[in-house]
Amino acid sequence: MSNIPKIVILGAGYAGILTAQRLQKQLNYNEADVTLVNRHDYHYITTHLHMPAAGTDSVENTRVPISKLIDEFKIDLVKSSVQEIRPHEKKVILEDGTLSYDYLVISLGGEPESFGIPGLADYAMTIRSINSVRLIRKHIEYQFALYKNERHPQERLNFVVGGAGFSGIEFVAELADRIPELCKEYDVDPGLVNIYNVEASPTALPGFAPELVEYAIDVLQRKGVTFKLGVAIQECTPEGVLLATGEEIKAATVVWTGGIRGNRMIEAAGFETARGRVKVDEYLHAPGHDNIYIIGDNALVFNPEGRPYPPTAQIAMQQGVCCAHNIVAAIRNQQPRKFVFNNKGTVASLGRGEGIAVVGDKHIKGWKAAQLKKLVDIRYLFTIGGIPLVLRKGKFL
Ligand code: NAD
Repeated sequence: MSNIPKIVILGAGYAGILTAQRLQKQLNYNEADVTLVNRHDYHYITTHLHMPAAGTDSVENTRVPISKLIDEFKIDLVKSSVQEIRPHEKKVILEDGTLSYDYLVISLGGEPESFGIPGLADYAMTIRSINSVRLIRKHIEYQFALYKNERHPQERLNFVVGGAGFSGIEFVAELADRIPELCKEYDVDPGLVNIYNVEASPTALPGFAPELVEYAIDVLQRKGVTFKLGVAIQECTPEGVLLATGEEIKAATVVWTGGIRGNRMIEAAGFETARGRVKVDEYLHAPGHDNIYIIGDNALVFNPEGRPYPPTAQIAMQQGVCCAHNIVAAIRNQQPRKFVFNNKGTVASLGRGEGIAVVGDKHIKGWKAAQLKKLVDIRYLFTIGGIPLVLRKGKFL
């Protein structure tokens, strides 16, 4: 048997892909065996999922075959679903086999958090993967198709989005852009359609600069979105949602964007978690395991003021780069590097030609922010796939 170290990366999202690509670049021939496990043979661009979900862009523009991003002569790609992580046996159980490792990278991404709200898991849809957004898109189109064939059809034209964080706001904006097209296609009076965005906090985009939040709300209200702020969804039913105020909104479409948590498999593996995320050390190691790295949505990393960084694509990518560096350093008996997050800013799309952004202490609104969002997306395509990927996908963004 070979005694080359075995590196196993679980998940090919932002963090996993960046780790794999950096390892592929930095490792010498025969220095380590690298295996990348992913449920699908494609990587998807999570920050773009709200568009195919609403139907304002295609699914194909949101995913890339992993084989186009890695060199399969250097990295073994295993298309399988991870079932269990056994840190003490240094093994990972897949749906169709077992992998052993010397170094493990857990970059499995998060899961929607439903906070135990009854009915959400059964009746609400979530924006979490290519398959989930296909469902949302087809479901919305189907409601329009059903509308004229029923006696009490209003709930077919009522859409509820639970949560007005970044995901909720970006999706609701795309939905508002899509509705006029659907109304035209299905001969429906646009005045009959209602889009509700329900948020438990007193404001949308909690924590974001009030000036930009106000701008976002104004843009979205003008596009036809009704906000219900400071009121929590208490239950989701087959008929719609019940709010904490006792109000019921009847809606055949409920999309839940109320937050994310860490992957449940990590808790099941015995790691100590907070809302499913693991407080990693400064080198991104899981506590007590110098050969296990947890990165992306499942890693809890704190800013200098002691508050956790929110799980974003930006931090996941930077962690991937640092993690690959530290694995190579470990193999070569060199010093690892501490992870330091370099916040380049935040940008959220508000639909066609509109957005808000914070870069340093600058607040950007409108068309400029929308262009910035495109630039960020193009930069990401360039990072993972160079000019060919930008040319293939970038023009659609
Ligand atoms: P989030 O946690 O940021 O927002 C969820 C929202 O749902 C919160 O505002 C919360 O108050 C609300 N909520 C929770 N329970 C509720 C209830 N019962 N009823 C009504 N509202 C309720 O989650 P997200 O928007 O999915 O974002 C997840 C992470 O991804 C965040 O870190 C976010 O910053 C990041 N993200 C970033 C971008 C971007 O940078 N453009 C886009 C999408 C997501």
